[in-house]
Amino acid sequence: MDSSVYVFVEDLRGEGVERVLDRVSGYGVSGITVGAVHHASRDVTPHGLSRLTIRHDGAHFTPPPELFDGLRLAPVPGYADAFDGLREACAKRSMKLHGWTVFLRNATLGTEHPDVTVRDCFGDRGSLTDLCPAHPDVRDYAVALARAVARLGVDSVVAESLHFRPLKPQRSFVPLGPMDAYLFALCFCDYCMRRATDLGVNAEVAREECARIVGGVFDGDPPAQGEVTRAALTAYAGPDVVAYARARSETVTTLVSEVASAVADEGSKLVFIDSTGAVKGYTDGLPTPGLAAHDAWQLGVDLVALGDLVPAFGVLAYARDAARVADDVGAYLRSVGKDREVRAVLRPGHPDSDSVDRLVAKARGAKAAGALAVDFYAYGLVPHPVLDRIPAALSL
Ligand SMILES: [Zn+2]
Repeated sequence: MDSSVYVFVEDLRGEGVERVLDRVSGYGVSGITVGAVHHASRDVTPHGLSRLTIRHDGAHFTPPPELFDGLRLAPVPGYADAFDGLREACAKRSMKLHGWTVFLRNATLGTEHPDVTVRDCFGDRGSLTDLCPAHPDVRDYAVALARAVARLGVDSVVAESLHFRPLKPQRSFVPLGPMDAYLFALCFCDYCMRRATDLGVNAEVAREECARIVGGVFDGDPPAQGEVTRAALTAYAGPDVVAYARARSETVTTLVSEVASAVADEGSKLVFIDSTGAVKGYTDGLPTPGLAAHDAWQLGVDLVALGDLVPAFGVLAYARDAARVADDVGAYLRSVGKDREVRAVLRPGHPDSDSVDRLVAKARGAKAAGALAVDFYAYGLVPHPVLDRIPAALSL
């Protein structure tokens, strides 16, 4: 079975390319998925150069200038030399190299250009981290960025955050229910509203409804009960809001299609990852009941449509339970099409896997459900003894 380990450029800089690759290839893994474009973060890194690693928004290579000529948004410079010699070092070990690319989560670009970020139903731009996939400048940037990563000679461009994102306030003492938070996260920028209007949706009514409902909770109304489903959302917010939310998938599908074509043009292939599995299980490995494939529409991700446009998908199988991992992979394949490559992304340690047996069970479940690959997340974030579980998970 194909496999890879996710690796941060800070891991390579800290421990050195040769040492990291020797270790990873020793696990019997067939490739590495390196963070070519990543977002700012502050992470505990148990065997890193520093034990607390500060990451900045950045593209960790030198982008070909002609790709961004005339574009308003250009990659934020990162470690320009991170990919130097990396392909050769992988080839020497017969390992594949994948370029992990975070597209629309970028607070540096959003702070510099607030008008390209999402705008909520009240007209506020409070999520400068989230670039709106409907904005033409963001779309041009995403396509050029995909080409730039593909030109590094990677076997695939692994796309993260190439869709709408959920709301992530740092503090909220208002008890917003899942549906309230969902309505509050919807983007009502001019471009999103225009696209929805073109599809026959009454975008202004949808915006007013969202503002009325969320504003009501801010004023003391009880929050919504229950998870977000189309039926529950229709009952809670009305058909215009549901139609508006569903119209977002056209925005995302067309963008992903352009990005996939650009990557293919450059001789690589796109692996699309939607964040639904992380939204559900990131914190504790106990995902909310709906399967990721069934709830991906909430972020504007139409997996059935994307199945015709994208060759490969990564499923963030952030769950403790092996049966849940198998169910998520199976549902994904039924959505994108059985002939598509589906890769299960597993966390080999906390909070998903408390033992080698559990990790093995999940890899086995993913394979039985039809996954063609397992990827392990992530080299620098987990202790060496946890990484040492990987060989057992690959010897199925
Ligand atoms: Zn928008």
